[in-house]
Amino acid sequence: MKAFTYERAKDARAAAQAVAERPGAKFIAGGTNLLDLMKIEVETPTHLVDVQDLGLDRIEKTRDGGLRIGALVTNTNLAADERVRRDYGVLTRAIVAGASGQLRNKASTAGNLLQRTRCSYFYDTNMACNKRKPGSGCAAIGGYSRQLGLIGVSSACIATFPGDMPVAMRVLDAVIETVDANGQHRAIPIADFHRLWGDHPEQDTVLRPGELITAVTLPRPLGGKHFYEKVRDRASYAFALVSVAAVVQPDGTGRVAFGGVAPRPWRVEAADALLPQGAVAVTARAFQGATPTKDNAFKLPLATRALASILAEAKA
Ligand SMILES: Cc1cc2nc3c(=O)[nH]c(=O)nc-3n(C[C@H](O)[C@H](O)[C@H](O)COP(=O)(O)OP(=O)(O)OC[C@H]3O[C@@H](n4cnc5c(N)ncnc54)[C@H](O)[C@@H]3O)c2cc1C
Ligand code: SF4
Repeated sequence: MKAFTYERAKDARAAAQAVAERPGAKFIAGGTNLLDLMKIEVETPTHLVDVQDLGLDRIEKTRDGGLRIGALVTNTNLAADERVRRDYGVLTRAIVAGASGQLRNKASTAGNLLQRTRCSYFYDTNMACNKRKPGSGCAAIGGYSRQLGLIGVSSACIATFPGDMPVAMRVLDAVIETVDANGQHRAIPIADFHRLWGDHPEQDTVLRPGELITAVTLPRPLGGKHFYEKVRDRASYAFALVSVAAVVQPDGTGRVAFGGVAPRPWRVEAADALLPQGAVAVTARAFQGATPTKDNAFKLPLATRALASILAEAKA
């Protein structure tokens, strides 16, 4: 691990300033992703700004009947919150499908949104990787790509966003709140938050340097039945091959988003409209234009079957 300096910020704007002003500085929250990447020198920050004392650990009702989740709320506390369990069940289900109890006790809401891809070539500093080292190439293209993406990817990078919680947040139309070093606030819909890779896979999100996530807001509850189906190689401690978050209303309408397939939680609103016609219609539309590799083409029928099982359960 490379040497770095460390400070604990006392307020949100000061934290943003500390990172913006210092080249190579980064925020640290639970550290469950960042420290792992630092140990293998995939990430080499020069300075860490710890954000755990900023008071961003509360879940509050919003004026319009939604919920505002502080950036530092742990995955455990968010999943267990009575209001989340009652009104946003898809979110609780997605969170508990991820990582392990110990990790969820440390992992924060913002850190989960910003966790980096699990592409194995990204983790191996001997391999070419445009995301780790821009312009160096992509060992995954033409390499082993079973875990990797099939839609929204590019000729520079075919990795996926690996998380579970943000797939549920996409179905719920969450909004990410930020503050920057000048005290400017932004509200970014989750649909626009994670970037498609394009020519710049090193940029995972639309956050600007030093911009701090302060909260995630959920609109008022949608009602309906909530589901999260995660298909993975082991029952725990494994990332999704494919995951499906869905909210299904009694008349068969609803919303659906997929994980494990794209650089961001994958939702196509035009595909939502086809839910009453069944899983095949929905996935045909959601994955229109997909470019699977020979290793990961199985994800397309897997996504259809996972959604079909949700729709069958919704009718039961
Ligand atoms: C063995 C293992 C298994 C896992 N399995 C799963 C799984 O199945 N599903 C899943 O979804 N996740 C899984 N995870 C990932 C885990 O959920 C993430 O590591 C965690 O959510 C990151 O949160 P953190 O608070 O620890 O972030 P950190 O590691 O502290 O930070 C992650 C990134 O976010 C940035 N950051 C943190 N807070 C802020 C902020 N407020 N504003 C701006 N930037 C910020 C940091 O600079 C860093 O770049 C797993 C992790 C491990 C180690
Ligand atoms: S798929 Fe992306 S993360 Fe993986 S090696 Fe290629 S550029 Fe790197």
